[in-house]
Amino acid sequence: MQYSENPNFSRPIIVVSRCLGFANCRYDGKIIPSPFIEHMKPFVEFIDVCPECDIGLGVPREPIFIIDNGDRKLIQQATDLNITENMQKFSRSYLDKLEDFDAFILKSKSPSCGLGTTKVFKNPDDDKPLHNKGNGLFAEAVLSNYSDIPVIDEKDILDPLLRDHFLIRTFSLASFREVSLSGKIHSLIEYHTKNKLLFMAYNKQIMAAMGDIIANRDILPVEDVYENYLSLLLHILSSPAGTGSTVNALMHAFGYFSRHLTAAEKFSFIRKLQQYREDSSFIFELRKWFLSCAHKFNVQYLSEQTFFYPYPEELSGSFQIV
Ligand code: SF4
Repeated sequence: MQYSENPNFSRPIIVVSRCLGFANCRYDGKIIPSPFIEHMKPFVEFIDVCPECDIGLGVPREPIFIIDNGDRKLIQQATDLNITENMQKFSRSYLDKLEDFDAFILKSKSPSCGLGTTKVFKNPDDDKPLHNKGNGLFAEAVLSNYSDIPVIDEKDILDPLLRDHFLIRTFSLASFREVSLSGKIHSLIEYHTKNKLLFMAYNKQIMAAMGDIIANRDILPVEDVYENYLSLLLHILSSPAGTGSTVNALMHAFGYFSRHLTAAEKFSFIRKLQQYREDSSFIFELRKWFLSCAHKFNVQYLSEQTFFYPYPEELSGSFQIV
């Protein structure tokens, strides 16, 4: 199925590390080919950023490192430069100026962009790092400014389940951003309705609270309704959906067409659920099966649920890098 046949997906805006296929901006003048990011281009809008180039370090340049001996610094050892303040200032001002965006994809292991994968040294002359679980300074600013926004690196995005959670969040936020432009309550109700099973799989209690917000019993101004709803939307999607709650949402959906199935078909469904419990990646098969049943039995409510089609299929678990 081609994206052009599915115009209902909003186009997320993703801030991405520039060296991931956008420019030869690494310290050694190289670019990192990123086939999956390339593959995403028809479906998302990318804003590329290279914090090191954007603070004026040239290409090529001497490498920079994070030193932590009580006082954390970003240094360029070969030139004796301490660029900590420069990088922190750039990060603050860049992130403050960002307006519409939905997610970040950052380069792993970088002293600027790395997410929990960056080497941290005790002293500039050390050969061995203290650890390699640090955040780059730009990445750290992203995490502290936007703790609820999806952030992933180019390695984790190749893991089908980590990618799935990232894309669900990213496409859900992009869709909300588009809906919020209308400023209408009925658009928000439509958004909530088509995301209901997805939210149920993530957290039923928060889903109910989101329903209460759009019921707007206190007759709040629409802007407040949107703002309150967004804060729960960010919260509900912040951790991946659990297996138990996903099974509950699937059982709920099954109730819409189970009466049309034979005993053998119902048994086969129970086996599919068991497979999913044993291997979470079976969710990709289950989504397809539910969508085909929804079409076969003409259950429009299910056909429209983002739970079964949260983002373009081309980006899903079945993607292979060739
Ligand atoms: S990791 Fe970040 S700072 Fe380093 S080259 Fe890539 S975009 Fe630039």
